[in-house]
Order: sequence, then C-alpha cells, then structure tokens
Amino acid sequence: MNSADIATVKTLLSKPQKIVIVPHKNPDGDAMGSSLGLSHFLTYQGHNTTIVAPNDYPKFLKWLPGNGSVLNYERENTQAKKALSAASLIFTLDFNHLSRTGQMEGPLSESDAVFIMIDHHQQPDSYAQVTFSNTDMSSTCEMVYNFIAALGGASKITPEIASCLYTGIMTDTGSFKYPSTTSKTHRIVANLMDQGASHTAIHQRVFDNNSPSRLHLLGTTLNNLKILSEYATAYTSLSQDELDRYGYKKGDTEGFVNYGLTLEGIKFAVIFIENKEEGIIKISFRSVGNFSVNEFARKHFNGGGHTNAAGGRSELKMEETTAKFETILADYKKQLLC
Ligand code: 5GP
Ligand code: MN
Repeated sequence: MNSADIATVKTLLSKPQKIVIVPHKNPDGDAMGSSLGLSHFLTYQGHNTTIVAPNDYPKFLKWLPGNGSVLNYERENTQAKKALSAASLIFTLDFNHLSRTGQMEGPLSESDAVFIMIDHHQQPDSYAQVTFSNTDMSSTCEMVYNFIAALGGASKITPEIASCLYTGIMTDTGSFKYPSTTSKTHRIVANLMDQGASHTAIHQRVFDNNSPSRLHLLGTTLNNLKILSEYATAYTSLSQDELDRYGYKKGDTEGFVNYGLTLEGIKFAVIFIENKEEGIIKISFRSVGNFSVNEFARKHFNGGGHTNAAGGRSELKMEETTAKFETILADYKKQLLC
C-alpha cells in the first residue's frame, strides 16, 4: 500500500463519511470477513457504514459479528439502493471488476461516490480512485489488516474485527496451507488471536456444521467424478436435479472442487454446477503448481480469479459444457503434464 494512497485515504477519512462496503456476488468467507471487519473499524472511527451484499451468502458465515446489519441487494433492494445513493465513499472488497457484483453493476457505475478497491485478484479494472491491489496477498482480509495498520489502527482491533479478519484469512488460505500463506500471514493471524479471535470456535463454526444435504451432495459429487489421467485432470458436476433431490442450500457445495486435487497425480480439478434459475453452469477451477486456472477461466469460460483458484460460467447445457471443456483440455496437455 503506497504512502500517497494511504495519505489520500487518511484525508478522506478525516471527516465523517457515509460509507458503503460492497463484497462480490455470492460472497465467501474472505468477502464477508473483510467487509465486516472493515465496517467495524470504520464505524468505531465515527463513520456511518453500511454493507450491501449483492445477494445472500452461506449459513456458515451468518455468525460473523455484525452479520445482522448486512443489506442484501436482492432482498432489501429499496434500502440498499438508498444506502448506495447516499454514499460519499464506497469500498469494494475482494473483487476488482464491477461485473462481479451482478445486478449492482449499474448502480455502482452510476455512483458519484469516491471508490476504494481492496483486492487480491489478478488484472484489476480501473473504476476506483484508490486501488489497493496485491495478487501476492493470501486474502483481502490480510490486506484489510494491513490497511487498518497503515491508518494507525492496529492496536485498536477489537475481538469483533479480529474474528472477521481471521475467518477470511482462514477460508482463503485453505486453513493456512495454500502457497499464498506467508510468515507475514501467520504473524497477522497471531496478532488477531491476541486481539480476541478464537481459532477453535471459528474453525468449528465454519467447517463443523455440515447439513445432511451437504453430505449427500458430496456423495453425489464424488460419484460423478471423472478422472482424465492423460491430462492430470479430474472434474465433476452437479445438475439442478441432483441439487433439488437433496434440498441444496447456498454454501452446500463449498470446497467440493478440492477433492479432485487430493488424487495422486492430479493437478487440475473442476466442478460444474447447474443453476437453472440463472440459466448457467457455474464453474470452479483449482490447480496445484504453475498451471494458471485464472488464464484458463478468463480465456474459455468468461471468468477469472487467481493462478490456483478461479471461477467462470457457461451458458451451454451441462453435457455441452463438459464436452467443450474436454476438447479445450487437449490444447493444455503439455502444460498439465510438465
Ligand atoms: P470459487 O470457485 O470459489 O467460486 O472462486 C474461486 C476464485 O475465483 C475466487 O477468488 C473468486 O472470487 C474468483 N471467481 C469466481 N467466479 C468468478 C467469475 O465468474 N469471474 C471472476 N473474474 N472471478 C471469479
Ligand atoms: Mn479472497
């Protein structure tokens, strides 16, 4: 975070502002943890702060401190629009292109507010007056910690802020195991524990509350797994019928894509999940090593993300989507087998 940008933000925050914080659509632990952590901090600094999430998020995040005051743009549209049009400052967290907010893209691009982006994805867009973008960071939560510290607030981190930021770092690093986890990440996490984040309780709340529907869907996902050893790839799918059969709820399929990577020799894992309401197949891509799923998703499936974790979409039917995927894979054989 360069000092000129921090100075700009300090000036902006030197008087009370009407702030809206926006995470990406289908918010995950990092998006909600960073939004809530930052919101608590800015509220304690005397600002009027509202989080507007583009849509709902999973139950395993609904214990996060401050969860009750998050506005859902789909469900509380009038209130959310009001907050957006009153905003003098808008923070966008854990994404770097306004299209990642779905229906909020229009209202956000028409807003006169000053935009501040804090994000760790690749290829940031240029909509914000202040852009904090660092693709080496484990998570947006780690960046929000650094942001608070740069504003001189590290010692003012409350147990609420610590719990929110710990959650996002934990979920985005696969519980501190992905290569983006650094010794600095661990030092920040240690500080967050000292400041009141309870690691055991947070882990249990996020990971140990499986519903029967989630476990049944996991069974189906594993049954549907297709292993393409010749491409070091494994992919699986869930159709809308399968989701309906087991009473799918938001968040139920979180992390399923990772199972493919636990197979010996597999470097690329993918899950295709049908969403009939939106008329799309939502795709998650994961890799180990140098194979960039960000580039793959961007080039072929209208998506993006990080080198080892990305998402995308297809408007074709499931069978056509997986067939397209298999065809494309052939071009990547060399990269996948090296
Ligand atoms: P997931 O597969 O868990 O939905 O997403 C993996 C990563 O890719 C996350 O960092 C997420 O923000 C990003 N991502 C997911 N879907 C999309 C998408 O459609 N477009 C872009 N640009 N990024 C995505
Ligand atoms: Mn993130």
